[in-house]
Order: sequence, then C-alpha cells, then structure tokens
Amino acid sequence: MASAFATPSSRYFIDLEKEDGAFNYKPLDVVLHKGSGVWVWDVDGRKYMDCLSAYSAVNQGHCHPEILRTLVDQAQRLTLTSRAFRNDQLGLFYQELCELTHSHRVLPMNSGAEAVETVIKAVRKWGYQVKGIPAGQAELIVCADNFHGRTITIVGFSTDPKSREGFEPFTPGFKIIPYGDAEALAQAITPRTAGFLVEPIQGEAGVIIPPAGYLRQARNICDRHNVVLILDEIQTGLGRTGKLLAEEHEGIEADITLIGKALSGGFYPVSAVLSNHEVLSVLRPGEHGSTFGGNPLACAVARTALRVLVQEHMAENALVMGEYFMSGLRSLHAPVIKEIRGKGLMIGVELHPGAGSARHYCEKLMAGGILCKDTHEQTIRLAPPLVIQREDIDWALETIRQALVPAGAGWSCGRGASCRS
Ligand SMILES: *Cc1c(COP(=O)(O)O)cnc(C)c1O
Repeated sequence: MASAFATPSSRYFIDLEKEDGAFNYKPLDVVLHKGSGVWVWDVDGRKYMDCLSAYSAVNQGHCHPEILRTLVDQAQRLTLTSRAFRNDQLGLFYQELCELTHSHRVLPMNSGAEAVETVIKAVRKWGYQVKGIPAGQAELIVCADNFHGRTITIVGFSTDPKSREGFEPFTPGFKIIPYGDAEALAQAITPRTAGFLVEPIQGEAGVIIPPAGYLRQARNICDRHNVVLILDEIQTGLGRTGKLLAEEHEGIEADITLIGKALSGGFYPVSAVLSNHEVLSVLRPGEHGSTFGGNPLACAVARTALRVLVQEHMAENALVMGEYFMSGLRSLHAPVIKEIRGKGLMIGVELHPGAGSARHYCEKLMAGGILCKDTHEQTIRLAPPLVIQREDIDWALETIRQALVPAGAGWSCGRGASCRS
C-alpha cells in the first residue's frame, strides 16, 4: 500500500536507498526535500504537516531562520577545534545552559546515546569514589519498556526483544523494575545502587505517563538512599511537554538531566549531561571525551536553539496547543481510538486492538498530508513542532477525522486496509 502511494520521482530515491543502504529502518515512503516550521514538502512538492518532529529534535520548527543564520555564520568562522584546545563558544554555551536549567555543571556530547553512556560512566565512578560501593559492584536501576538509545550497553538493559536479540553479550550492572512504581524502586535499591535512570514520560514505549507524584516519590527515595536520580529528558525536555523540562511538572530537580535532540533545533547532533550534583566532578582529564563534543559549531547552534525556544515561548505554546489538540482529538469520538494521552505536545493516540495497525493509519494520514509515526503496533504518536498554531491544529484535526472516522462505517469493516472512506 505504501509503495503504491510513492510517486515516480520518490520511487527513484526510495530505490536508491534500498539498493545501497542497510535495512535498519522501515520509513514511510515519503521522500522529503524541504521544510519550514511545522511543514515539510516532498520531492513532488506535496506538503505535509510534520507530527513527529524528528522524534522531538525539531521542536523549534524546521529550518528556524535564526538557528540557520547562526549555523552559517559559525560554520564560516570555525567548526571544530577538538577539546585539546579551547573555543570561544563552549563557555558561553555552559553559562547559558546552566542559567536556563539551574544546573551547575555540563558535559557536552553529540548523540543522546552518548549522553546516556556518559552518565553511566560518571555515576559508576561516583559510586566507587564518593558513595563507597566496593570496586566493580556498582548497579544502576532502570525501568521496563525504557528507551535510552542503541549502543550495546544501553540495549543490554532494554526490555524490547527487537532492540536486544542477537546483540549479546551485554554489559552487566543494571537492574530492571516496572515503570511508574515507586515502591518497586524502594525495594530494588541496595547499598550497591549508584543511580536510577528514568524517562519522565516514556516516549518510544508509546507516550506512557507515570502516575502523578511518581517522580516526586522517586526523588525522595533516591535522597533517602543516596542514589543519583538521572532523568533522561532527551525527548521530554526543551519544551515538548509544555515546560522547559518535564521534571517541572512535579516540582523536582534531578541530580542529572540528559538532554539532546532539540538542543540544536534539528540542525546538528548536540547532547548534554546536566548536573546538579557532585557526580560530574569525578571525571578527570583523559577519562572521558569526544572528538566532536563541545565543538564551536555545536555550541553556537545550541545557544541559538535555546534562545529562540525561550524568546518565542515555545514551551508555553506547547502547553496551550497540546491541550487544544487533545481536546479536539477527544471530540472526534473516533470509534477506533481507545485512549488519548499526553502532556503538552507529546501526544499518544492508542487504537483499539482490531481497529487495524497504527502503521496502517499512519499511511492513511500521510495520504491526507500528516506525517506521524506508529509506535508499538497500536499507538500513533503526535508530536508536531512547538511553533504550531491553532489553525494548523484545526486543519490537522479535520485530516485526522477523515483518516480515522470512515464516513458512516465506523471500524466494523475489519482490518482497515480494505476500508473505503
Ligand atoms: C532519542 C532518545 C535517546 C537517544 O538519542 P540518540 O540521539 O538517538 O542517540 C535517548 N533517550 C531518549 C528518551 C530518547 O528519546
């Protein structure tokens, strides 16, 4: 069905990818060519609303003009020095990021997975040097259905068979507990526990929101046992949920916060480990690093990406537009929808089993002009750039209605693929 949709010119690019690329993704058959704000255009000039935002990496909207200008200016001046020398962007990036997030120390990396790897190293070392855990025994607690990236260590503590199977052996030292269960955390902690790594909302698992008070309870439990609370805000952070950081919804501060994705507004891979705790200080020269981490181009781009996020009130807009979008989705009364959940513009639409796969509906939505991503068979994730406006959402709701509510028929026509709407 997807290939029938692909036009002759998109077919050409798709075939090129298939001929020479690895098959680790199965994208929708749309070949994008340019973007602006919430909109993207394919090679044939068809326009779509982007409701994935590159997994929340383009919160600021596609090709934000000010970030673009910074990218070009900085690229003409200086791009990479390595950390063997200093550059005039890194310190300013640290200062502005710390001020904005009330952090005390920053360690810059590139991808989200690298930020996660960095924190695992730092927290283990802190466990030995500061907490006094016996050598080689440090443990981190993580949650079932987590998503923290794709390296061997990280997939080793995933519970998703597709992420893990065939990639063994894995790194030891992780304990998995159910998500959203503070009691399970309290039970799992031992004197060897160095840290607890958790997502404020589980994005890849299907926009799973923990019970209210969960993060606050986790904060208390970690305090009581001298365990480092690490929030992976790589997806939830930087405005997505209607606050700069999702931790603000519960009025807590993590010891360590991981950010990435929207830190560059989608222009460049930039991630960072933010610390409110003595943890980062255990890393000494030579113990950790990255050739590209903290490079002047990344820092300049990130500084502007943060500035426009604040100046254009994107988190506030996400809060208001998220409410508007979710209430509009509820008022569609689409029989295929089982549940609508979300915070800010991080929205999951879970379909009834038997309504047809989420992938099928994503393909229908694409035909109608909305790009979004299925996650875990039954859930469609809607996460447009945070610059979205009311009239854009009105248009999206009408398009979603046409894709999800077949005129008259309800969803009794079965698996959906043969449904005429
Ligand atoms: C995307 C993501 C990561 C990994 O980031 P990469 O840049 O793809 O390595 C880690 N944690 C969360 C919560 C994410 O959404």
